[in-house]
Amino acid sequence: MLSYTTMKRLVHYTAGRAAVALQPFSIRADSPCACILMYHRVADIGFSDPEHDDWNVCPETFERHIAALVEVADVVQLSKLPGCLGKPGNRPVVAVTFDDGFATFFTEALRILQNYDVPSTVFVVTQEVETGGPMSFDGWSVKNFGRVQSDICRSMNWSELESCLDTGLVEIGSHSHRHLKGFQCTREQLYEETHRSRDILRSRLGNRHSKIYAYPYGSARLGFVNAAYKHAVKAAGYEIAVCSEIGLVTSDNDVHQLPRVEVHGSDTAGTVRAKTRGVLAPFRLIKRFRSTSNSIERSDFGAADTVVPQRRPDRPVHRRKISERKILVIGATGQLGKHLVPRLVERYDAVTCFVRPTTDRTPVTLPGVTFLEGDARDRESLQDAFRDTDMLISAVVLEDFAETLVPAWKAAKIPRSIFVSSTTVLTKLETDTKRRKIAAEQELFNSELNCTVVRPTMIYGTPSDQNMAKLLRYLRRWPIMFIPGDGKSLWQPIHVEDVVSALVHCVDNETTSDHNVYNISGPHALTADQIINEACKALGVRRMRVHLPLSACVWTVRLFGKLIGPHVVQVEQLLKLAEDRSVEHTAASQDFGFSPRPFSEGIRQEVALIRAEAKGSGRNSQIPITETTK
Ligand SMILES: [Zn+2]
Repeated sequence: MLSYTTMKRLVHYTAGRAAVALQPFSIRADSPCACILMYHRVADIGFSDPEHDDWNVCPETFERHIAALVEVADVVQLSKLPGCLGKPGNRPVVAVTFDDGFATFFTEALRILQNYDVPSTVFVVTQEVETGGPMSFDGWSVKNFGRVQSDICRSMNWSELESCLDTGLVEIGSHSHRHLKGFQCTREQLYEETHRSRDILRSRLGNRHSKIYAYPYGSARLGFVNAAYKHAVKAAGYEIAVCSEIGLVTSDNDVHQLPRVEVHGSDTAGTVRAKTRGVLAPFRLIKRFRSTSNSIERSDFGAADTVVPQRRPDRPVHRRKISERKILVIGATGQLGKHLVPRLVERYDAVTCFVRPTTDRTPVTLPGVTFLEGDARDRESLQDAFRDTDMLISAVVLEDFAETLVPAWKAAKIPRSIFVSSTTVLTKLETDTKRRKIAAEQELFNSELNCTVVRPTMIYGTPSDQNMAKLLRYLRRWPIMFIPGDGKSLWQPIHVEDVVSALVHCVDNETTSDHNVYNISGPHALTADQIINEACKALGVRRMRVHLPLSACVWTVRLFGKLIGPHVVQVEQLLKLAEDRSVEHTAASQDFGFSPRPFSEGIRQEVALIRAEAKGSGRNSQIPITETTK
């Protein structure tokens, strides 16, 4: 089977050829722009390693790139780039940058750059400069140190950096002090990454070389560059900062977050020319695909033993392989948990469900599931359960358990957690549920721990759901449907299996971590009337709809409340029914390709499920046991 990196190389190569082919049809941007190329290691590793990343460029290829560049473009130093953006129609303006400060820049790349008189910028990780060993964040180097020449794995040292500066062609910038991921850093760590590396560069190489910064891992979209990080970079006095989002630089760009274009070992001279001219569509496409396909990368591309939780080359090492992580599920026997646990055991070796001794655990009694007894309202029993857990998934009603769950979670310092909340926090109505939910979420965000909050809209799709299952039962029984309000209020219910898919994506995908919030909903907003129509279609019945003025409904409910005390319908519930409750799920689509099923399909599945369950149990369902033809 092809290794993950081989596959990536093939994809890069194909995209590169596509870019060359598209070049004649590309239209140059009409505003002045420039291209910052991003290289990493320039070396011939001397053997073929399918695990070796495509960001390594061998010296012969590198020379072909540079020869092509000087032919078609004006190459300038990065610090001068914002001041000399190329006019449309002229030669492209290009800056050449190197991340991580590999010693191979000094031993291989520099002589080629000198031959062609090409200026460049090198970003060093200050903590790694004098170690002489493999750079700690570069898994491949750590694994192969000793097998290959040390120059291939280590950072340049100070004397090599000084020699680079002596050529007059090189400027040095900071690539942080420790190469940490922005989203995992506390404010203090961000301060250290930016200020300490600046101070070291200043004292070693002079002020001139502490003005430019390259964010490690570099993607803003994936959270490696965020507002706090940018703030720290600015505060440290860096004048320019580059990320790894793909694009040309224009005068509209934020100088503290300039996009770049990565160069790969599989790039031909033609590909590099196309990249500098801004033919980037094929590469953008791959980038989008790669950030959303980690599960595919791991399972289908046969790289299971390399632990590939994220898209960038400098990959971190986890305590355990993803498939071996110990996952603890709270709320496992609930509406959502029952659907979630089977999907988790398909993928992960160790799934533990935290259940009360009295709970019926039959629905999740599956091979591979273990049970831990306890009570989620008891902090100590939670703390016991959290011991030796790598990942917590909380599928309980967050605000109902926040009081015990959140403190126990904080104390246990679980490395990664996913909490299910709900889009109720977005309602305009000032309800008690909303207040408690927001408070609970806030507690999570205030912690320093790594957590993701997933907020589904109204969940349907199970025979026991409190929403659509009730509606289906009503529609089955009664010929007329009374609707408070005009029936035009918007809803965007989500099928339970789509919620589960989103959760599984968050488990798989490291890039969703760190205080990310994902609102998840059905594909489109539907009016209350449309929902009722779809439900009728799924049941194969026709029903009359009667709209009742909302104010009259509220008035009646209040009156009954006064007359007969506590009543079945709350005013709050009525108002909720009439409120627009459509919610977009853009972040989830972008980050993990979230694509829920249409309501018409989901509601048919729910009807089928309810019928199947009724058949199975031999009971008389309130929904007729006949197949509809629709
Ligand atoms: Zn790096």
